[in-house]
Amino acid sequence: MNDIVGHALAQKDYRQIHLARHLLPFEDHKFLKPEDARVIVRGKGVHVWDDSGKRFLDGLSGLWCTTLGYGRPELVAAAAAQMEALSYCSQYFNTAHPAVSELSAKLFELLPSRYGRILYTNSGSEANDILIKLVRRYWQLAGRPEKRVLIGRHNGYHGATVGSASLGGMKVMHELGDTVLAEVHHIAEPYWFGYQGPLTEQEFGLHAAGELEKKILALGPDTVGAFVAEPFQGAGGMIFPPSSYWPEIQRICDKYQVLLCADEVVGGFGRTGHWFAHEYFGFQPDVLTIAKGLTSGYVPMGGLVLSARIGDMLAEQGGLFAHGLTYQGHPVAAAVAVATLRLLDEGGVVDDVQRILGPHLQHRLRQAFAEHVLVGEIQGAGAVAALQLAPSRGSKQRFANEHAVGLYCMRRAQEHGLIVRTTNARVIIAPPLVSTLAEVDELIDKLGAALDDTARALKMR
Ligand code: PMP
Repeated sequence: MNDIVGHALAQKDYRQIHLARHLLPFEDHKFLKPEDARVIVRGKGVHVWDDSGKRFLDGLSGLWCTTLGYGRPELVAAAAAQMEALSYCSQYFNTAHPAVSELSAKLFELLPSRYGRILYTNSGSEANDILIKLVRRYWQLAGRPEKRVLIGRHNGYHGATVGSASLGGMKVMHELGDTVLAEVHHIAEPYWFGYQGPLTEQEFGLHAAGELEKKILALGPDTVGAFVAEPFQGAGGMIFPPSSYWPEIQRICDKYQVLLCADEVVGGFGRTGHWFAHEYFGFQPDVLTIAKGLTSGYVPMGGLVLSARIGDMLAEQGGLFAHGLTYQGHPVAAAVAVATLRLLDEGGVVDDVQRILGPHLQHRLRQAFAEHVLVGEIQGAGAVAALQLAPSRGSKQRFANEHAVGLYCMRRAQEHGLIVRTTNARVIIAPPLVSTLAEVDELIDKLGAALDDTARALKMR
């Protein structure tokens, strides 16, 4: 029986069905307010509309994925043509199809030359989950099966499945017990604003990276197989590490023969103005996990990109890597990904982020908010940034009720027609890569209004 929602369905009351039937991501249902539920009905360019006709500027690219904006006819056409030609085909039983082969050819043209193979998934979580098996399989084949431990970071995010949440360092996701795999450990995050000690920013970067060396030595270098991290933390608050951090991490991983695995799910496909965020930071991972921007969020797809050295070892040394997904390398996803990469590359989108959109956004953010009473720090590059909300500028002081302050600001932004997200008191901004300069200015104006409202509510002005 559908009696809870039958009436609602007849009335096209989607809010009611949503509230009655769905278990929502990262929500405490007890505190959900029915009046806060949104029904989004349409998207075009960098805007979406709700069922009352209200228009929102999407300052977050969906969830960091709709890099090309909404309703792109090229992507729609690619999906439709592929559904007509071949709607499904697996990669099982040694099978290829044109879309996935074209995708891999294009992808490896864009990736740095050290990468050689890819294993496709449907999401970032799956890619990071399989990464755990991959690392162990690699070290087995390399004759060092005891290198089974993976090290992640507190407040890192790698997905919501048991394996990927284990690699992540979100405390709330570990609270069910047994959701951190036994051989996964974590080190502190390189969160400069959160650091209160005597070190300079660059010294702090080295210190935070040094945590990895300490952990490897404590666990025994012979047991540690991989270090996994986002080049900049996304869900953790768009935290950019000091520039001293990544070179030191690279040195440590090289020294102890620990695979360096970069989660590029948020940072990949042009977000920083470089194709991949590790290129922006200048380090060289052995393995990348990708998703989101690969298809501009139009259909689900992710992947695990392996250096030629690792990929070839798995392929050439023989033995079964026991892994497979029904939808890996799905033709429709692959066709949309090919069209996405062509627009990003031949359409000049990534280039524009580096030369035009990124500098404009970063400049406008600093021009508008560096002196704002509520803003303690601005970080970012290309089309991604974070504003740290703080009670007094210049002191690295933090609000006791950070979460509530951030949430208030996010809601005010929504009232002003802007979608952004907050993690604690960090406002996260990641507009579509195709935003015009006028749309960036619209974002700045709306964000400014939300910051002013929040400062007023906190009696700071
Ligand atoms: N890695 C990172 C860095 C992410 O931000 C996310 C999702 N926000 C994931 C992995 C998981 O991706 P998915 O939600 O597609 O499983």
